[in-house]
Amino acid sequence: MKFYLGTHQPSWLARDLGVPFLVSHRRLAGRRSLPRASGPWALDSGGFTELSLHGRWRTDAATYVKAVRRYATEIGNLDWAAPRDRMTEDHVLARTGLSLRTHQHLTVVDYLRLRDLDPELPFIPVLQGQSITDYHRCADMYEERGVDLAALPLVGVGSVCRRQHTVEVERIVRSLAARGYKLHAFGAKVLGLARYADAIASSDSASWSLRGRHMPGCTSTHRSESNCLRFALDWHTRLLATLTPSAPAEHRPVVAHSVAPPSSAVSRLVDRRRIHLVSARNRDPQEQFEHHVELASRRAA
Ligand SMILES: [Zn+2]
Repeated sequence: MKFYLGTHQPSWLARDLGVPFLVSHRRLAGRRSLPRASGPWALDSGGFTELSLHGRWRTDAATYVKAVRRYATEIGNLDWAAPRDRMTEDHVLARTGLSLRTHQHLTVVDYLRLRDLDPELPFIPVLQGQSITDYHRCADMYEERGVDLAALPLVGVGSVCRRQHTVEVERIVRSLAARGYKLHAFGAKVLGLARYADAIASSDSASWSLRGRHMPGCTSTHRSESNCLRFALDWHTRLLATLTPSAPAEHRPVVAHSVAPPSSAVSRLVDRRRIHLVSARNRDPQEQFEHHVELASRRAA
């Protein structure tokens, strides 16, 4: 399984780190200069934040395609790009005022539109839903429109990982894999990923950054570890170690502990007020919002 490390720092793409990254369109859009990727990476559309913030996609299909074309050309090494999909978490549905089925319909139709606008770009279809039945209905919607999902190199599974319980995620993922799909689980919760890692082609997470917000910086220039490359790579290495098939099964339940940064003992010694200050100071408004959305969706889980 390939694991894309989610980052807010597009400049990391240019570093020769041997780690595939997932970067959001929101972090790249409007940049005058773009990094040249030294290794493979994938583009997230930023749809979760876009719909949570604005209740709709403000970027039209043609503009998005133009942006992705630019990333593919100028940054290079683009494995795949997420479409302008519509997530189906309850609070996202409340924000758009549309039904779950309408979100699915728009997701499918938009994928077809992006593909028509530029068949050369590596857009992947994304399945959205809440229940297992929803996900299969969404897959049927693609199939009915002539998209042979099993023949494609990758099919995204959205919404599922942010909200569902691990056992439910596993059921959904395995049932979709049984249709012959090569899956990317978006924003996987690392706890429990080992349960179904064998059923997916790839996944991603930026949860290291959320965790890093509450960690004191490793140098005087780092207020926290939320944007620390060393911290991120360390987290990635530890995560992969928990997912290696050779790891004894009895070690798997400790995923949460082994993913925890080594300095957790240090963090316990840090004054609570300082942690609060550190995390608040370090956030730009966008990150702060994403942080709140993340917490809200966790509470809803
Ligand atoms: Zn650091």
